Amino acid sequence: MNKRVLIVGLGLIGGSVALGIKQQHPDSMIIGYDRSEANLETAKRLFIIDEGCTDWLEAAKDADLLLLATPVEVTKQLLVDLADVSLKDGVIITDVGSTKGSIMKAASALVEKGITFIGGHPMAGSHKSGPASAKAHLFENAFYMLTPFSDTPPHQLEQLKDWLRGTRAKFMTLDADQHDLLTGVVSHFPHIVAASLVRQTKRYAESFEEINDLAAGGFKDITRIASSSPEMWKDITKQNRAHLLTFLDEWMEEMKDVRSWVAQGDDHELYSYYAGAKEYRDALP
Ligand code: NAD
Repeated sequence: MNKRVLIVGLGLIGGSVALGIKQQHPDSMIIGYDRSEANLETAKRLFIIDEGCTDWLEAAKDADLLLLATPVEVTKQLLVDLADVSLKDGVIITDVGSTKGSIMKAASALVEKGITFIGGHPMAGSHKSGPASAKAHLFENAFYMLTPFSDTPPHQLEQLKDWLRGTRAKFMTLDADQHDLLTGVVSHFPHIVAASLVRQTKRYAESFEEINDLAAGGFKDITRIASSSPEMWKDITKQNRAHLLTFLDEWMEEMKDVRSWVAQGDDHELYSYYAGAKEYRDALP
């Protein structure tokens, strides 16, 4: 019998992973569910899924792979809802959420029942949302983070990678807290800083409208991510609170140092500050 994949949440990410799975596993049957009827219809019309369903918990019973691609707070509730369902032997459940700590906590009740849950986070995206923006190659060459539990059977992890191979992403396996620390440093914290730079510029633009023309090249490069969804980033900031509080404290300390070097006109420290950043930035792959 053909393997069955159930995807809950047929937006940009769920739709793109679905297309990737189908490329590598054309014989699998991809069933989709979305609380938005319009998104479900679009996913069917664009052949992102083979079939839609209206009762996802019923469809979950026959699934070999269950991918939860909803906002993180929703995914946590879906994991709770799944705890009472009798699932197929060997089923793998995964998600795509941008933070992993609270998801893994919510999944632990399922894992205690012997069900395999492996957290997932394909690290690419777009400011667009919904199934119409889904692309089979959205994750090509991007990192796809996988966060198994410490006792996840290795063959289940390999099986999940096999399911996801058609995304052409590069897998990286790490534990959930490490995931939240690393993505906090390279992604979540920079969103806070980018928003603050834009907000400061906006304050000055209220008095000097020329700023709107001058805020081009470099400013746009460094603040591109400030155009991301406020709803999504509010949630990510709350979910990764502990790490972000540490980064904010460390950064404010560093800014205090920078302030004093600026106030004193300290050539040596200011040069080292920029040179140290340039050296690391230039060496990034
Ligand atoms: P999206 O808005 O494009 O898709 C989310 C889909 O979930 C929508 O179709 C929505 O109708 C559906 N949904 C919401 N609540 C539901 C419910 N209760 N039951 C069923 N369906 C429901 O958003 P997206 O960008 O695809 O984000 C989905 C997940 O992917 C989030 O957890 C996000 O953290 C993660 N993620 C996003 C990006 C990105 O850049 N957009 C990147 C990596 C991971």
